[in-house]
Amino acid sequence: MALLEILAFPHPVLKEKAKPLDGVNAAIEKLVQNMTDTMYHAPGVGLAANQVGVPKQILVLDVSSAEEAKNTLVIINPQIIELSKETETTEEACLSVPDFRAEVERAVRIVVAGKDLNGEDLEIDAEGFLARVLQHEIDHLNGMLYIDRIGKLKRQRYVRRRKKALAEKK
Ligand code: ZN
Repeated sequence: MALLEILAFPHPVLKEKAKPLDGVNAAIEKLVQNMTDTMYHAPGVGLAANQVGVPKQILVLDVSSAEEAKNTLVIINPQIIELSKETETTEEACLSVPDFRAEVERAVRIVVAGKDLNGEDLEIDAEGFLARVLQHEIDHLNGMLYIDRIGKLKRQRYVRRRKKALAEKK
């Protein structure tokens, strides 16, 4: 098992738009394995490759609860096919945004297409928590964090607090 460093705000790679993959080779397979280990270890329900410093369109997710068996989902080159007009607002957190949670409005339902690790087409029609996690992770691949979707004042307050915490660490 190899754990990767999860990069945190304001690391610039988190603002990069991830590039699509044109195929999966051994190095990508290894990266996905390490991302999966890192996600479970954190623990988190999803991880985008740019969170570990690789701006490529790769997501790993698992929204199963602690009592359930692991159910890892790997999506290469995810594309949003459909987003419901109906939305809901719930608290989110992010491994790349330490010490913060905030409410974010998201579509209730999403349809995502992409490829799996074997290069097979994948389509996921999700509602509720999985729909939210998919939107959060696809945002990462577009260089966006959930704090870009909250009120400006709330975001500024967090950014100030985070910068202060980082300055005190030095
Ligand atoms: Zn995140």
